[in-house]
Amino acid sequence: MPQLSHRVGTFTDSVIRRMTRISDQYGAINLSQGFPDFDPPREMLDALAKIAYNGPHQYSITFGAQNLRQALCAKQSRAIGRTLDPESEIVITCGSTESMMCAMMTICNPGDKVMVFSPFYENYGTDTILSGAEPIYIPLVPPEYSFDLSLIEKGFREGAKAIIICNPSNPCGKVFTREELTAIGKLAVKYDGFIVTDEVYEHIVFDPWKHVCTSGLPGMFDHTITCNSLSKTFSITGWRLGYLIGPADVVDAARKVHDFLTVGAAAPLQEAAVTCLNLPQSYYEDLKALYTRKRDYFLSGLDRAGLKHNVPQGTYFVMVDIQDFLDLPQFEGWTDLAFCEWMIKNVGVAAVPGSSFFREPVNNLIRLHFARKESTLDESLKRLAKLNELVKR
Ligand code: GLN
Repeated sequence: MPQLSHRVGTFTDSVIRRMTRISDQYGAINLSQGFPDFDPPREMLDALAKIAYNGPHQYSITFGAQNLRQALCAKQSRAIGRTLDPESEIVITCGSTESMMCAMMTICNPGDKVMVFSPFYENYGTDTILSGAEPIYIPLVPPEYSFDLSLIEKGFREGAKAIIICNPSNPCGKVFTREELTAIGKLAVKYDGFIVTDEVYEHIVFDPWKHVCTSGLPGMFDHTITCNSLSKTFSITGWRLGYLIGPADVVDAARKVHDFLTVGAAAPLQEAAVTCLNLPQSYYEDLKALYTRKRDYFLSGLDRAGLKHNVPQGTYFVMVDIQDFLDLPQFEGWTDLAFCEWMIKNVGVAAVPGSSFFREPVNNLIRLHFARKESTLDESLKRLAKLNELVKR
């Protein structure tokens, strides 16, 4: 067989998405890949039904339908305190997965270094490889998931082109403070680097934490590329609607990358999505309240089940410590991946092995998500409670 590229031999498929397939195969409750099991806003679905007959059904403008760009810029201008230009500072992409890839291909040359926090959302590792860059990992140290700013300065000093910040952070639930972002921002300015920020969980932040947009910090707009999406905010992960916001020069280049990668996001879905951007501010407050209830409900269930976990400041993910189980003779020498596969088959709940997020050799954490109806969370907690019977035995 003719040879494939060397590149494809350097990464595996996504473990997150693999766990969903195994979960489906065994009929488990899928708390691995993060997506809701409840419906998107009714107004948007009604709009989509009309669009089915009235269109648009052909390509939108490659960098995004004008009305969607306008609506998103209006919303994000409020968030960052600066008027965004829908004609030059945004590109609509196929999910923020494409935004991130597009950002990386726009700024990286082969051999460039990019800083990535560890733990990290697994796409970032692959994004760096696909764009020809080399990752430099900066540890986020549990339990606070704090970081050493001097390592970031060292990375920039050694020529790193950019740092990727997932804020709020998947998988560890960290919400970066204004002070932390300002400090990283100062280094990006000092060393003339970029901050590529993934803000898809911007509206899933729990009190007293607040989401701060890096691009809105003083002097940071020209150094920040923001990747974002409608997936989590409007419960439409399958619609694949994302966007990239940045300075006009960056966006101009990113639009070219995007054009040749995908031409554009689905036109009927872009049109329908405009509807949800017209929802009142209370929509975002209700979403936050909904996820706060889910978090509190799920975490207290984990406590009752005797499972040790972190308390996320944002996102709908929680990391559960499985060391007590790995210490049992039954699981001696097991990897977290083997444990997750065992859990799917024997407990009926799917999780993501923590090792797929860490650069460091971490084997004792698994990631669960709580973007589920209360009845689904109830049933999963019942199943997870059985885990602890193993330890008691
Ligand atoms: N961001 C979600 C997660 O981490 C979904 C990822 C995906 O599959 N696109 O589970």
